[in-house]
Amino acid sequence: MQKGAENIEFTEITPQADIAADRHGARAKCLQRLVRMDLPLPRTVALSFDAVRRIAQGTLPDVAALMSVFGAAPLVSVRPSSENQDWGGPASILNIGMNDSRHAALCATHGETAANALYLRFIQAYAVHVARLDPDMFEPEAPSRDALRAALDAYAEETDDPFPQDPGRQLLEVLRSMARAWEGTTARLLRQAKGAPAEAGLGMLVQAMVLGVGPGESGSGVIQFVDSVTGQRRIVGRYLSQSQGRDAISAREGALFLTRDPRGAALEDRCPDLVARLRRYGDTCRLNLREEMRIDFTIEAGRLWVLDALRVPRSARGAVRMAVMLADEGIIPREEALCRIEPRAVSELLHSQVDPTGPRHVIAHGIAASPGAATGRLVFGSAAAQASAARGEPCILVRRETTPEDIRGMHAAAGVMTERGGMTSHAAVIARGLGVPCVVGISDMRLNRRDGVLITAGGHKLHEGDIVTLDGTSGQVLLGPVKMLEPALDDAFQALMGWAEAACDIGVRANADTPADAQTARRFGAEGIGLCRTEHMFFEADRLTVMHEMIFADRAQDRASVLARLLPMQRADFKRLFEIMQGLPVCIRLFDPPLHEFLPQSREGVRDLAEALGMPVSDVQRRVQALSEFNPMLGMRGVRLGITIPEIYDMQARAIFEATIEASRQGDPVVPEIMIPLVSAMREVELVKTRIDSLAAAVRTERGVDFDYRLGVMVETPRAALRAGDIVQHAAFLSFGTNDLTQMTYGLSRDDAGRFMGSYVKQGVFAEDPFHILDAEGVGELLRIGAERGREARPGVTLSICGEHGGNAESIAFCRAAGFDYVSCSPFRVPVARLAAAQLALGEQVHADRAGPDGQPLAFRS
Ligand code: PEP
Ligand code: MG
Repeated sequence: MQKGAENIEFTEITPQADIAADRHGARAKCLQRLVRMDLPLPRTVALSFDAVRRIAQGTLPDVAALMSVFGAAPLVSVRPSSENQDWGGPASILNIGMNDSRHAALCATHGETAANALYLRFIQAYAVHVARLDPDMFEPEAPSRDALRAALDAYAEETDDPFPQDPGRQLLEVLRSMARAWEGTTARLLRQAKGAPAEAGLGMLVQAMVLGVGPGESGSGVIQFVDSVTGQRRIVGRYLSQSQGRDAISAREGALFLTRDPRGAALEDRCPDLVARLRRYGDTCRLNLREEMRIDFTIEAGRLWVLDALRVPRSARGAVRMAVMLADEGIIPREEALCRIEPRAVSELLHSQVDPTGPRHVIAHGIAASPGAATGRLVFGSAAAQASAARGEPCILVRRETTPEDIRGMHAAAGVMTERGGMTSHAAVIARGLGVPCVVGISDMRLNRRDGVLITAGGHKLHEGDIVTLDGTSGQVLLGPVKMLEPALDDAFQALMGWAEAACDIGVRANADTPADAQTARRFGAEGIGLCRTEHMFFEADRLTVMHEMIFADRAQDRASVLARLLPMQRADFKRLFEIMQGLPVCIRLFDPPLHEFLPQSREGVRDLAEALGMPVSDVQRRVQALSEFNPMLGMRGVRLGITIPEIYDMQARAIFEATIEASRQGDPVVPEIMIPLVSAMREVELVKTRIDSLAAAVRTERGVDFDYRLGVMVETPRAALRAGDIVQHAAFLSFGTNDLTQMTYGLSRDDAGRFMGSYVKQGVFAEDPFHILDAEGVGELLRIGAERGREARPGVTLSICGEHGGNAESIAFCRAAGFDYVSCSPFRVPVARLAAAQLALGEQVHADRAGPDGQPLAFRS
């Protein structure tokens, strides 16, 4: 052992060596598997997490002993090996051991250019990553003697020391700097952002160099057997003669294709046997590692070496196809294929996405409220959005916030962005329902409609007609058009969804208000409609006017005449939904409009309404004022409207029953579910139930047809959750509306929270936006109390959640644990919810079965 060195253990990677991913890292374990498969690997030594941690703390490894593994005058590389490849690590360093005398020897054996290249590469990497010198002074350049001299001089000048010549010291410094880099704050934050635990360890690998430079065919390359973006099987990669590391990938010219290719020269033309061997190695890796791998290889004087193999990096679409193909070929079980896909990734497949490999010029940020991306011309109003759609020009609608008057504009737009609002604001809820990309709460932009300009925090002034790209997945607004990835609802996606359905043990329904929503819901496999917000049925132009008339009617007979016009419209709406859902449950929520959403906001809106109602503008203005509430979200909403003006709910109940009879006559029998919103007291339910029951009796008598229906309550006020035991006496089901429940539990406005939510989350006041991720502690406690008290008083009661949280994996886990029957979410989130639910169900099964001899869950066994 060297003087001063302590006992830091290292293990040579052999088939029998004691190497484990949770002690030496995933790369070390993978290399051992390659060795076991007899792939030609250079000699490699692994340092454990513990060893690296001690090196970072100042313990000196016995580098002489370490170097001696590699013979008399070794050249080695050091690579990081974290437990999970995705957590990254410090950059690999090649050619450790290069010094003046080795350079002279290599000039004789490999030629001066090769010797210069090896030495220069090492000096550059050492200067930047170990001595931490300015990278600009050590840019890669052609390996001439002058460049080498200049690099050595620059090093000496910057450090006041000559470049270290002792290979042992070089290795020691490399190990120490990589170990410390892993402990640094930036590296820690970066890996935590990728899901690594705070205490994640780093292993290191010291590997004998095989030189990709020198005589004969020498070079390096990278090969993979699937396309990272599509997941389709094809050979992808490049090879570059006289190169090392990943040079072949970054080379501007001279790189060869691997297999014969009409686009240019290929390694297969030059070394067909080696390419055939690489193909065989690929097959062996796939079968034994049960994964699509990317192999780093080097050819040294005509001899092929495998240096490393990593999971192929992949897009969401690629990940789905790769997992499905491995399962179809029996290489992994279907359950494992299901568990390999992140539910969030599925949402990327349903929408266009900004290509993550392309450049992006971000000009504003907000809350990512509806996923997917769209490029279009800016429009600042709904009329302009509709005009743009009529011209066939995609547009991005910008509003301070949206109201029902904007619905048509939102339908017409390719994307929607708002200055205000949070995850459950009007724009967010509607956009998710429509599947339109949306970013809300963009507080770093100002829309000045009068001057027709949108000003960003960075000083960009954008006008109507300027092109932007809205990324609703990341919450960014980008300048100009960018490269996109198209949605991928292909056969692989369908197969995966089918397997998910078989594994799910909690129901997944959709929140759907229109026939188009219902069709999307069915296409994505929803088991019913969990929430039909009936007020959304009135956003079409002709209907909005009738709706306005109803809200403005202050005499019973005027209201009756408007309701008589609404009845057939609603009946047709419900009948269509029942037909599309073909006997699956449809839960219709009685009217719940915060009135301000239906009052005209602009001067033109007031004028249009005056025209429609045949009233003077001043009268309309007076009425708008009379109906205005200080806090409409807590005002005459939901059941409060239903009790104050009961004819509205009467009309809706009649429409539902008549539609039930008509739809059941032609198709599957329908048992509608009617839900009362914003309940806070049992008496509210009693009053509404009495009227609805008597209406059902009247319709049965009039039509001479019997039918069933279920009446339930939407639990979305804290009081309703606490009093669920009373309320449930009149309710066959309780559906928790977590949007309002979150709003009221926190005393936080759904529409205004976006203004400070970012700062709250950043400062750790809230771990997450509670409108986005269910607050399991506070709101969750109310859900648990409501469910327990409801179930105790009425054991068979159906329990569900229908707020926007319904599609999140975290909320689904919560609902399963609390024994809920189903979750309901916007149609585009149904596949995400089904996959998350399947994974939860499988996770439990796998855990219960103790899947393998190693006791590891199925998804992580290999
Ligand atoms: C809720 O409050 O959770 C809900 C689903 O209803 P809305 O978003 O329509 O208020
Ligand atoms: Mg609500």
